[in-house]
Amino acid sequence: MKFIDISEYIEENRRYYPTLPPVKIEWLRHYDKGHDHEVSYLSMPIHAATHVDAPIHFIPNGASIDEIPLTHFMGIAQVVSVKEKVINCETLKTLKISEKIVLFKMKEWEDPRDYPYFEKDAAEYLVKKKVKLVGVESPSVDKFGDKKYPVHRILLNARILIIEGLKLNHVKCGRYFFLCLPLKVKNLEGAPCRAILIDLGEVLNK
Ligand SMILES: [Zn+2]
Repeated sequence: MKFIDISEYIEENRRYYPTLPPVKIEWLRHYDKGHDHEVSYLSMPIHAATHVDAPIHFIPNGASIDEIPLTHFMGIAQVVSVKEKVINCETLKTLKISEKIVLFKMKEWEDPRDYPYFEKDAAEYLVKKKVKLVGVESPSVDKFGDKKYPVHRILLNARILIIEGLKLNHVKCGRYFFLCLPLKVKNLEGAPCRAILIDLGEVLNK
């Protein structure tokens, strides 16, 4: 049994989405300041690094992150790879999705506004497949600049959770046991999480 960390670092000054402020760390106590211990203060957008989006992010009166049962954050996951920057229903049909949790390894991008994203019909396909959680390496499932956020709306409306900002470049496609635990913040539309895969080898991949 092997544990694979698929979370992104939360790093000072790093901006995870072009229109959101960067992560800030303040040192309230630090050895360099002559203190005998360290205490830090972290401030960051909720949608930075690896995080889960809860339905209330786009659905008024939808569940907030603390209201979602823990069972939604774990289960057998299928890691798939997509080469396209624009992922549509046709792309998804070729992937033979059969698990309720699907994690997408994506094409690398340099320009922070040019990350891979889903088209509306891809979101509709995932709803039809009765997926319960969709994970992506991109900072958003929607195209940068699309103010209507159609993919977020379709998935969250169907109570499909979204995890953005995963790190999957070191992971082979296949089936794993997936687990992520978002912070228990009250009434918020999402939360940062630590996400891992447990490689059960042939038990899941025959
Ligand atoms: Zn988000």
